[in-house]
Amino acid sequence: MTVLDAFKLDEQVAIVTGGNRGIGRAIATALAEAGANVVVASRDQAQAEAAATEIETETGPEALGVACDITDEDAVTAMVEATVERFDGVDVLVNNAGIVVHEAIESMTLAEWNDVIETNLTGAFLCSRAAGQEMMDDGGVILNVSSMSAYIANYPQRQVAYNASKAGLEGFKTQLASEWAEHGIRVNNLAPGYVATDNADQGAQVAENAVEIWTGEMLQDEMATPEMLGPTAVYLASDASAYMTGETVVLDGGYTVR
Ligand code: NDP
Repeated sequence: MTVLDAFKLDEQVAIVTGGNRGIGRAIATALAEAGANVVVASRDQAQAEAAATEIETETGPEALGVACDITDEDAVTAMVEATVERFDGVDVLVNNAGIVVHEAIESMTLAEWNDVIETNLTGAFLCSRAAGQEMMDDGGVILNVSSMSAYIANYPQRQVAYNASKAGLEGFKTQLASEWAEHGIRVNNLAPGYVATDNADQGAQVAENAVEIWTGEMLQDEMATPEMLGPTAVYLASDASAYMTGETVVLDGGYTVR
């Protein structure tokens, strides 16, 4: 047994919400490369299936695509049931799916606020509750993709609901880690800085120099690629982090320390 064996996920089953594109896709691919069978859960069945097929072809372990809107309680239950039916259990849940609304608070509608909170926070609750019930006997791992936005004010874009939702995920993680420790379920957060995805592209639209402003705050002066998060996700999902729970790993190119 070498140190690298602790990072292996052979025979493990990992659900990644929003695993069809962006950060979720990179995390699902990384977990599969480490040996896990993965379930890609996103809203569109064809996209979820296409991503699962590509991941399976690229990496080797089995992958399943399931249509699931994580704000829909019944859909989440069905997604976890489909996972158990196919793979006989759930070992890892990555609560990655998330949205952002760029709107000043004074003009934000209640519907916009609710959309963000329901997706980023309530969705994590629903998925954790459903997957966690499958982990109660043998333990497991829940990894929430939070954000450095839980700790800082972003600018020039306005996104108060997003930052509130990510700060909520921090409290969620701490309390859940405490409540489920007795079941051998570890709960940690991965908090990225700016990552080049559709989500960040949306933020970059608010000002011509938005990306320049963001990178100006980083010690490593470029945005991350989604693939840069893969190794940390494998660490947090595997026995490499066996003695770690209730924590957050910030991966932001030094943005928050400046
Ligand atoms: P993208 O916009 O590229 O992807 C978002 C993903 O979430 C898609 O797979 C989307 O699936 C899924 N999703 C959204 N809403 C739902 C829903 N209701 N049910 C199921 N799936 C849903 O975003 P990123 O990859 O950038 O973001 C992934 C996570 O990382 C988010 O939680 C985000 O907040 C976080 N993050 C991103 C940062 C960045 O700079 N990009 C920085 C810090 C954190 P669908 O195809 O169905 O729309």
